[in-house]
Amino acid sequence: MIAIDGHSSTGKSTTAKRVAKALQYVYIDTGAMYRAVTFLALQRGFVSSSIDKDGLLAALEQSSIRFEYNPQVGASEIYLNGQNIEKEIRSLSVADHVSEVAKIPEVRAYLVALQRQMGQEKGVVMDGRDIGMVVFPNAELKLFMTASEQIRAQRRFEELQQKGEKVTFEQVLKNIQERDYQDTHRKESPLQKASDAVEIDNSYTSLDEVVSQIVRLAKEKIKA
Ligand code: C5P
Repeated sequence: MIAIDGHSSTGKSTTAKRVAKALQYVYIDTGAMYRAVTFLALQRGFVSSSIDKDGLLAALEQSSIRFEYNPQVGASEIYLNGQNIEKEIRSLSVADHVSEVAKIPEVRAYLVALQRQMGQEKGVVMDGRDIGMVVFPNAELKLFMTASEQIRAQRRFEELQQKGEKVTFEQVLKNIQERDYQDTHRKESPLQKASDAVEIDNSYTSLDEVVSQIVRLAKEKIKA
C-alpha cells in the first residue's frame, strides 16, 4: 500500500495514477468518493445554506459507490448508483461543497470503511487527505504532496479552462484556499503530514521527476 496525501490540486491523482501504472498497482482516488457523496447531496437537494445531514446519510445508506476500470482511458472511473459521474464530480459546484460534506463524521466513517475494503489487496496506491494517518496507518510507503498556492491555482485554472468551465483564476484560487483551510482545520481527521511520510513539494518539479522519485522509493521500501 502506497498512501499519497496532501493539499488540494497538487497533482496527487495524476501522480498516483502514473505510479500505479508503473508498478502495476491498483489506483484508488478517495477524493472522488467524497466528491460522489457531494454530488449525491446536490442532486437530491440536501445542500442549501447548510447540509441536511440526516437526509444525506439516509440517501447514502441506499446508494452504491464503486469504481470501474475503463480500458479506453486506462483508468478507473467512479459510479454512483450505476451512473458514471467521473465528469460531474470535477465541477466547481461540487468542489465548492465537498469540504463541508467531508467534515461530516458519519460520511467519513462510511467512506473509510469502504476504502479499507477496497485496499485489502496488495499493490494499491490510494490518494486523499487522511490515508497515511487514518485509513492505512501501516501503509508501506507514505507521501505528502504540496506546492505553492499560486502554482496550484494556475494549474487547476488551466485544466478547468480546457474543459470549458467558465471560471476565473480568482475563483479557483479562493476555492483552493478555502479547501486547504477547511481540510487542515476540521475536527474529524484533519489533513496532516504523518511523521513517517516523505514530503514532496512539486512547485518546480515535473510530473515525470516526481513519479520516478516515488517509484524509486517504492522499490526501495517495499522490497526491504
Ligand atoms: O482529492 P480531491 O481534491 O478530489 O478531494 C476533494 C475533497 O475531498 C478535499 O478537499 C477534502 O475535503 C475531501 N477529502 C477528504 N479526505 C480524503 C480525500 C478527500 O476529506 N481522503
